[in-house]
Amino acid sequence: MFGGLNMIYFDYTADTPPDSRVLEEYIRTAQIFANPNSAHSAGQEAKNEIDTGISRTAERLHIKPSEIIVTSGASEANNLAVKGLTFTDRRRGRHIVSTFLEHSSVSGALTFLQEQGWEIDIVNVKPDGMIDIDHLRTLLREDTVLCAVCAVDSELGTVQPIGQIAEILKDCPNCRFHVDATQAIGKIKLDLTFADTASFAPHKFYGLKGSGILYKREEIVLEPLIHGGASTTIYRSGTPDTAAIAAAAKALELAENEFEERLAYVTNLNRILRDEIRKIKGLIINSPENAVPHILNVSSAGIKGGKMQALLNEKGICISVKSACSVPNTPSRPVMAITHDRKRALSSWRISLSHLTTEQDIEALIKALHEIMEQEVRK
Ligand code: PLP
Repeated sequence: MFGGLNMIYFDYTADTPPDSRVLEEYIRTAQIFANPNSAHSAGQEAKNEIDTGISRTAERLHIKPSEIIVTSGASEANNLAVKGLTFTDRRRGRHIVSTFLEHSSVSGALTFLQEQGWEIDIVNVKPDGMIDIDHLRTLLREDTVLCAVCAVDSELGTVQPIGQIAEILKDCPNCRFHVDATQAIGKIKLDLTFADTASFAPHKFYGLKGSGILYKREEIVLEPLIHGGASTTIYRSGTPDTAAIAAAAKALELAENEFEERLAYVTNLNRILRDEIRKIKGLIINSPENAVPHILNVSSAGIKGGKMQALLNEKGICISVKSACSVPNTPSRPVMAITHDRKRALSSWRISLSHLTTEQDIEALIKALHEIMEQEVRK
């Protein structure tokens, strides 16, 4: 059983079920309901809870509490960083460098800026999924004001060399570095302080939807998306959600404390899955070997991603085609970027794994894939 449905779930990259310990923390703190911006004792009780949640989050991430901006999710955090940084720096230059691996909340914000006159260059991605560092060097200019690269991409699971990119950007004094860390938290160890800004959301690591975090290095100035009075920060107005902040801190604590154990388990599942998929005629693995084990992108000869999703769904199995928020029936940009093969990009889909996935789940998926592919061959 998964949620209210009798389905086997392989879409943990899109969303994870909230951990019961996160829910307990949410329920406890939701009752501390007063507005934390109110000066009376009830408000201050809520404010103390928020300060504790933000301090715990900051401690885990090795950053300062004042460097945390609480948002409604990673999409808002990405928009705030991309638009906020470039708008602030618009007189220094209007050139941006990014990749085809970005989530639509980064690429969509970049398209918006392009329509307003900013120039965007895209760094090549090598067949192993890593961005081409030499190409990046050639793209950087004096008027480059932003480089936006995801730490882990949501479709292939590639892991980018964030420290190395930060080092290269030191030669480009006007350029800010935004890292979308949404698929990184809980999956890899990442030092956020390489970035000027970094985004993530707890619903990707067994926390709750409706909240997100933007790390913003202290000295960086951002134009807010939501103007209004100062709340926990001047960069994002609105009454802060005490319970969401406490729950985010709890989800992060669990993701950190249980990191090694969860990773070892998922790595083993990924190995089993890769071995079994390689035996199925017509399937080809797109995720590079060095991708996070939680994400496995596959193409199916003769079957488009959407069709495969529907066929597996009929068999009680949830997988995903591209990321949940992207445009349907278009080729996967990350798969195109590493394979340059449109057919392969159109027939790609994604399995995502968790410490909650069982070996029986994998067996059921493999059986279903054998059946589907054999049926296709007979057609
Ligand atoms: N960035 C990446 C890499 C993602 O995978 C996602 C969600 O799929 C997002 C951003 C957007 O997250 P949210 O749904 O919290 O807005």
